[in-house]
Amino acid sequence: VLPDIHSTRLARSADFFSVCYLLNELDNEGCIFSDRRRNAEAMRLVTWLSDGVDAVRQKARRAEGVGSKQALFRDYLLTIQGDTDSQSTRLRRHAILKDLLGGIFERRDSLRLFTAEQRRLIWNSDDKRRCKGCGDQLTWANFTLDHVKAHSRGGKTAISNAALMCRSCNSRKGGRRAA
Ligand SMILES: [Zn+2]
Repeated sequence: VLPDIHSTRLARSADFFSVCYLLNELDNEGCIFSDRRRNAEAMRLVTWLSDGVDAVRQKARRAEGVGSKQALFRDYLLTIQGDTDSQSTRLRRHAILKDLLGGIFERRDSLRLFTAEQRRLIWNSDDKRRCKGCGDQLTWANFTLDHVKAHSRGGKTAISNAALMCRSCNSRKGGRRAA
């Protein structure tokens, strides 16, 4: 997700652990990490945070004041100085990173399976009723619905994203995705 993170200060252990922890949490919440544009935006924000924190740290060394625009960087800096692993410090660092990155990624449709109503509508509105993969004739008893844009990549469980498919084509497609 963040391929250039090693060029930023967040590659250090305490920061890096927090970033990994956050990404894992976002993954569990259904976030999708396969969108290049969103990933690039996340990387841009991480770099921005890293550069800002470095600038504030240098100012602090020279005993210069920090402007209100840099409050975020100062707050973050406080979480990586001194006792970086105490629970309250970790939680504050996590909150800052989640504020920064939590809204960027698209989330998977929480519904993975098409409803009975959707199945009926799609079946009734299709007069050919052939598998989109192999072209076999389908029956009401054996057809499945395929996510045209894969669910794991953000495809919605919606009629506009559904195609009729036989069981073997659908499971083959699922297997390819998993591989
Ligand atoms: Zn088929």
